[in-house]
Amino acid sequence: MNIILLGPPGSGKGTQAEILSNDLGIAHISTGNILRQEIEEQTDLGKLVARTMQAGDLVDDETILAVTIKTLKSPEYSKGFILDGVPRSLAQAQGLKNNNIEINHVIDMLCSDEEVIQRITNRRVHPASGRIYNTLSNPPRVTDKDDETGEDLVQRDDDKEETVRKRLQNYNEITSPLKDYYREMANNDPLIKYHQLDADKSPQSIAEYIKHLL
Ligand code: AMP
Repeated sequence: MNIILLGPPGSGKGTQAEILSNDLGIAHISTGNILRQEIEEQTDLGKLVARTMQAGDLVDDETILAVTIKTLKSPEYSKGFILDGVPRSLAQAQGLKNNNIEINHVIDMLCSDEEVIQRITNRRVHPASGRIYNTLSNPPRVTDKDDETGEDLVQRDDDKEETVRKRLQNYNEITSPLKDYYREMANNDPLIKYHQLDADKSPQSIAEYIKHLL
């Protein structure tokens, strides 16, 4: 089962990827998490993308495709995968196709710009695991501490309001054409399903709904 989670920043892709990955037993890939790890480790790739990410811009397609394809070659993805945050442009979607990376389900998570801004500015993450919290709707048991490890939660540099607006603009202009791309693909190929859902429900009810769709 190969799944793409599509949706604006803050629509809950990361949260759903984590729940579905645990419940379905298939691995998930977040290109954002991979790149943040590279920045943390100060690798050449990390140095290359740091400024772009901090500004809320999209990293170039070639770099993203190289990272994604290399990651997908690892054996843990052989049973299926959940893509969170990739593809984010038509060139990336075509690149996946040209590399014979097959997709069975595209789940488009709909969320308004206002809701996105409200969610992201309240988002906190546990850097080591990528676990996500929201200070209002999904707070940790202890303020600013990860539930499992007790380690500090942080706000991502690019989760500040001004940067979020830039990321939303990029989503609306560059990523949202993927909706039509995959809708059309699904119309022409019975093995591909395109689903849309309302992402303003609770994470658990969205996860149940997605499992029902799959
Ligand atoms: P995310 O954690 O998915 O919100 O990604 C954080 C940032 O990483 C984005 O704002 C981009 O700068 C970069 N990034 C992650 N995935 C991609 C992608 N598929 N294409 C371009 N840039 C990406």
